[in-house]
Amino acid sequence: MSEAAATRSTQVAVVGAGFAGLSAALDLTERGVDCLVLEAQDRVGGRVLNHEIAGGKVVEVGGQWVGPTQKALLQMAARMGVDTFSTHVEGENLIEYGGRVSRYRGTIPRINPAVLLQVEWVRRRLNSMAATVPLDAPWGATRAKSWDRVTFGEWMRVNAPSRGARMLVRLAIRSVFGTEPEDVSLLHVLFYVHSAGGFDSLVDTAGGAQDSRFVGGSQLVAIRMAADLGERVLLDAPVRRIENFGEGVRIAAAGATIDAEHVIVAVSPTLAARIEYDPALPPRRDQMTQRMPQGAIIKCMAVYDEPFWRTDGLSGAGLSDGGSVNAIFDNTPHDGTPGVLLGFLDGRAARRWGSASVSERRAEVVRVFTRLFGTRASSPSDYVERNWAAEPWSRGCYSGAFGPSGWTDFGRALREPVGRIHWAGTETATVWNGYIDGAISSGSRAAAEVAT
Ligand SMILES: Cc1cc2nc3c(=O)[nH]c(=O)nc-3n(C[C@H](O)[C@H](O)[C@H](O)COP(=O)(O)OP(=O)(O)OC[C@H]3O[C@@H](n4cnc5c(N)ncnc54)[C@H](O)[C@@H]3O)c2cc1C
Repeated sequence: MSEAAATRSTQVAVVGAGFAGLSAALDLTERGVDCLVLEAQDRVGGRVLNHEIAGGKVVEVGGQWVGPTQKALLQMAARMGVDTFSTHVEGENLIEYGGRVSRYRGTIPRINPAVLLQVEWVRRRLNSMAATVPLDAPWGATRAKSWDRVTFGEWMRVNAPSRGARMLVRLAIRSVFGTEPEDVSLLHVLFYVHSAGGFDSLVDTAGGAQDSRFVGGSQLVAIRMAADLGERVLLDAPVRRIENFGEGVRIAAAGATIDAEHVIVAVSPTLAARIEYDPALPPRRDQMTQRMPQGAIIKCMAVYDEPFWRTDGLSGAGLSDGGSVNAIFDNTPHDGTPGVLLGFLDGRAARRWGSASVSERRAEVVRVFTRLFGTRASSPSDYVERNWAAEPWSRGCYSGAFGPSGWTDFGRALREPVGRIHWAGTETATVWNGYIDGAISSGSRAAAEVAT
């Protein structure tokens, strides 16, 4: 293809074919606006990715669950003809704490009554403080400055003084953010809790963010969204440079130059910062992208002939304070076989185990599963994992999170357009920020911004 042939024009260019970019493009198309999605990889879905296991069945190595209040995602899945099914929760959960494994029911294990009381106090305090944080302007909360000057870790040490309560709250933060309580500002946690509709919505399986899964895998929704867009999605087209003139933008992607009236950059702030802008972005926008790092997650699954734990009266869910796998779920496909146990290495564990080999990680994950679920867990037929910090087009997950002063000093730059550059991506969402649902609504918001 010649250089000239590779120059194209469109009304709106969209950078990224994750759920945010695809949703923006579908909305623009519905509004009669011509658009072109430029995706760096040879696939769509971004942080959502199916993986085929034996028998042509699918597990997800990226985002997978949907909760009942995640209306944008539920509606999109229904529109794309993708069904949901409930996450398996029947049976007792397991916790490994201080070297002992015990069973419990519900979300919060009963380590002892004092711990339970402290965790309940944390839950209530977080919910009531979070309710005062405006979702579209967290910096406007009455106590925004004082909450944004401290890390969640500092707040946690005062409000969850016992070792057991601190351990449980730390596990929750790692599971929700993929980072450590010391890395994230208290205000960011409060914003996130409010954005999800409460602490329980974040951590619960049934009724919460982990309530349901997609038949055929979550990426199927993105694949069908892209199919509807057809030739408007250009794969293998990493955007390297955006020139931002008064009257339009010129985009340099591998193999193509695109002239457009507007561009929607539908990637995380971390990746948006790796694009070159001419003229350079305003300092507050650029510095904002330097203060919202992605979390670290390695999603690991062991495959067994069948979900043997179910016959032992176990749900397959578990928690461990052993320092590697934090949270465990039953991730068996829709029809009940093969059995799949899913374990997350997150936060500091992902940082440490990220430099180990796959076989070392596999051995560690299987060791943890065996300690909790017994010797039948020791010999899986397959092992599947994805280290998201090692993905060049993600650089971590689940999403970006502000450290201290992030929201109050830089938060205004998160969504504010720069000339004809508009920003989408789950990190810009007000509702279900950090989730697929938030990605979809962020795309719709950016499309409306451009079209009006
Ligand atoms: C392990 C894991 C588990 C998760 N679990 C859940 C879950 O259960 N439920 C849930 O709701 N969410 C979950 N999430 C989070 C969820 O996946 C994300 O919030 C969501 O997918 C983000 O979508 P996005 O469109 O904003 O960004 P992305 O998915 O990151 O999409 C951005 C796209 O842009 C592309 N791109 C980046 N830079 C460029 C460039 N310069 N040029 C062109 N293209 C570019 C990327 O390749 C990517 O395709 C999980 C994520 C991970 C990784």
